[in-house]
Amino acid sequence: MSDRVLRAVSQSGALRTQIGSDIFSRFVETFEQSKPLIAQTLRELSSRFEGLPPVPLNETLLEALEQAVRASQKGLDGSSAELRDRLSDFIERVANRQTTESVVSRVESLRGQLREAQATYYQDDTSILSDYEFDRTMDLLEAEEEYFESIRRPDSPTQEVGGSRSALFDPVEHAERMLSLDNVFSIDELTEWAAKTSAAAGRTPAWLCELKIDGLAISLRYELGRLTSAATRGDGRTGEDVTVNALRVAGIPEHLSGTDHPTLVEVRGEVFIPTRGFAELNELQAQLQERAVAAARERWESRPEATRGPFDEQREAASAARRFPAFANPRNAASGGLRQQLDKKSGLEREAGDARVATLQLYVHGIGAWPRPPVAAQSEIYDLLAGWGLPVSPHSKVCTSIEEVAAFVAHHGEHRHDVEHEIDGVVVKVDELTLHDELGATSRAPRWAIAYKYPPEEVHTRLLDVAVGVGRTGRATPYGVMEPVLVAGSVVRQATLHNQDVVRAKGVLIGDTVVLRKAGDVIPEILGPVVELRDGTETEFVMPSHCPECGTTLRAMKEGDIDLRCPNAQSCPAQVRGRVEHIGSRGALDIEALGEVTAAALTQPRVPAVPPLITEARLFDLTLDELVPIEVVVRDAETGEPRTDDDGEPVARKPFQKIRLDYPPEAEGMTAQERRKAGYRKDHPVVEPSAQAETLIDELEAAKTKELWRQLVSLNIRHVGPVAARALADWFGSLQAIEAASEEELAQVEGVGPTIAAAVTEWLAVDWHQQILDQWRAAGVRFATPDHPGPGAAQQDGVLTGLTVVVTGSMEHFTRDGAKDAIIAAGGKAAGSVSKKTDFVVVGPGAGSKETKARDLGLSILDEAGFERLLDGGPDAVADLVGGESDS
Ligand SMILES: [Zn+2]
Repeated sequence: MSDRVLRAVSQSGALRTQIGSDIFSRFVETFEQSKPLIAQTLRELSSRFEGLPPVPLNETLLEALEQAVRASQKGLDGSSAELRDRLSDFIERVANRQTTESVVSRVESLRGQLREAQATYYQDDTSILSDYEFDRTMDLLEAEEEYFESIRRPDSPTQEVGGSRSALFDPVEHAERMLSLDNVFSIDELTEWAAKTSAAAGRTPAWLCELKIDGLAISLRYELGRLTSAATRGDGRTGEDVTVNALRVAGIPEHLSGTDHPTLVEVRGEVFIPTRGFAELNELQAQLQERAVAAARERWESRPEATRGPFDEQREAASAARRFPAFANPRNAASGGLRQQLDKKSGLEREAGDARVATLQLYVHGIGAWPRPPVAAQSEIYDLLAGWGLPVSPHSKVCTSIEEVAAFVAHHGEHRHDVEHEIDGVVVKVDELTLHDELGATSRAPRWAIAYKYPPEEVHTRLLDVAVGVGRTGRATPYGVMEPVLVAGSVVRQATLHNQDVVRAKGVLIGDTVVLRKAGDVIPEILGPVVELRDGTETEFVMPSHCPECGTTLRAMKEGDIDLRCPNAQSCPAQVRGRVEHIGSRGALDIEALGEVTAAALTQPRVPAVPPLITEARLFDLTLDELVPIEVVVRDAETGEPRTDDDGEPVARKPFQKIRLDYPPEAEGMTAQERRKAGYRKDHPVVEPSAQAETLIDELEAAKTKELWRQLVSLNIRHVGPVAARALADWFGSLQAIEAASEEELAQVEGVGPTIAAAVTEWLAVDWHQQILDQWRAAGVRFATPDHPGPGAAQQDGVLTGLTVVVTGSMEHFTRDGAKDAIIAAGGKAAGSVSKKTDFVVVGPGAGSKETKARDLGLSILDEAGFERLLDGGPDAVADLVGGESDS
């Protein structure tokens, strides 16, 4: 894209003569449509040319501008900051204000960052730069070196394959050099590369696309079919000998199967940890932490009582967390797994090490040191390798056009997490082997292949603070407040840290640079600190001893609970706010006007000083008059922190009032003519209830007579969600009957059980809960199902009595809840998940794993029409549809 644009510009004679705001305005025009962000930045920058003398525009400068634009396009993460820097830099250059020294020091700093990143990565299996940052830094350095030829150095990281060796392993010289791949970050760049490659090849070749596995490159040397060494890439010429561990990796055979093996061949591949294995590995690390603490306790107990002090559980836990930390990502875990010296480990460490090796897997993707393989295409090499018993990725595809390649890239970009391992991009190779020789390689990478890199899902950012929020149940949850960062397509500022033990286990300090991960729709997670970047100013998070909302001392509710809670359930404003919001939620009374902001306005307003709701007891007594004056501070949805405007003042709103302008009261009763004569205008403000206030009052009124199960959910009884509430409501028919039942009677109801029964009894025994019930009843809330025949009666009859039905997928005539209600009304049980005990599974369009499972279990499956027959006539009515097996 930019290539073509710049060439067009350079061919325009007028522009060859000078550079200044006019050339920038032309660029602005060119980019306006396709790259609005670049256009906007250029527009802003062009003003800086005013007052500067015109500078002759020659080829070198034009090239520099091109470099600047190209480099910044690569680095654009949706923010224009980097682009601005690059272009500012460029302007400095054309204005002859830059010095050679500034360029040299900039380049040296880039080289230093890259070298340090390589060193820590290869020697310590950690990284101070994220992969994406590393590639980007490398790109910037390349751009600089291309621009200033004089500063190129043969020892620059751009001239090396990347990485080096650790002294722990014996060196292995690769028979053929192991190269890296060059990267592209957009389809435009990929297309550009393909065009260049096609031009060099003299025709459009077939493209072999494969997933770029986020793992560790390995070269397996087979001589006459026997593995003689396995080596990491190292610097590309010499790698590390990891044969001992490699022989234990699934998929690395010591002897190749088949016959006609070449005298020597190096099989190249990627060692990785599959996603599922990674999760198991981290579970094991957590278990090992526990076992290490238990072992320490045993040792302590075996010492004579007189000689031992108290057992320091915290210290032991911290030490165990250091010995068996959670792995931040599968790639680092794989790298460390392959490059460990197991024979030097024992006990729990050995167990951890063995498990890591056992989790490793291999996919092969190329060969080296075999000048004339008996095939013509790279894709055929994979068939050959598979025939030798080597594992080949099932995800590759040969494409005949670059559009097809782009579709492959787009598809796997959307389905990144649907494959068995982590991927960070797509590798595109020229399929024909003869072209590999013709196209050759640069000092670092082959010209016949390129890596398309997806936007990062793992980034580095700074942990500015760890704050603590209090939720509906009083749980105090620490969460990280971070420098905002773009990850996987959205800006992330906060991530929960769950509890103080998690903060400690992750080992993060306030001020740390942390690794933040957000994959697709997944909730952002702080993986851990980048310890190498600490400067000593970082501080440890201390869990507060008091509730940040009401000042009550936090405590664990039960012995052994990790979570700390604010015990002031009745009037802690954060808890009341959470409960009131819950009452309005869809699974409870479904009051649309009672959302997050309204809940905050009613419980934590700025005005009046005494909130309308100190507990939820008065909810149904609210009046329009008391709503109108309420003023609320707008808070962040996640953290509860007040939002501030540009002056740092909290942003406040009055959600329940609107101001209408009218004639002043004195003008009342006057005719239009009289008002005009007296000079009255519509300039007198009249405060009135807003539409939201009216809606809230109306919806609260309507909510009073909603179904009993909704009323039960809205009471915020622990464990009583919609499912348990329906079970209670269906059986008992009224809150009065529930109150009259013993805990045992409650527990016996299908779908209730002892835990819920205990929670209900416990809740009912609390004085201030009774006040809520009294006040709600007095306000007209109906805690009963009209015409319910009494406890237990509902279960007695109905065509589905004793049967369990699961509905999955969408229905034409039922909503999800409607289908449930229909099943329950017919005496059946509406279950959420499929099991052997399920009698019928109703399947509509969009049904997923539940349908698969139902088929696997051989259950009776119905469509919507069948479902309607089932509701009408019971199992007999659908016997012909399901083969009469439903009775069993
Ligand atoms: Zn509190």
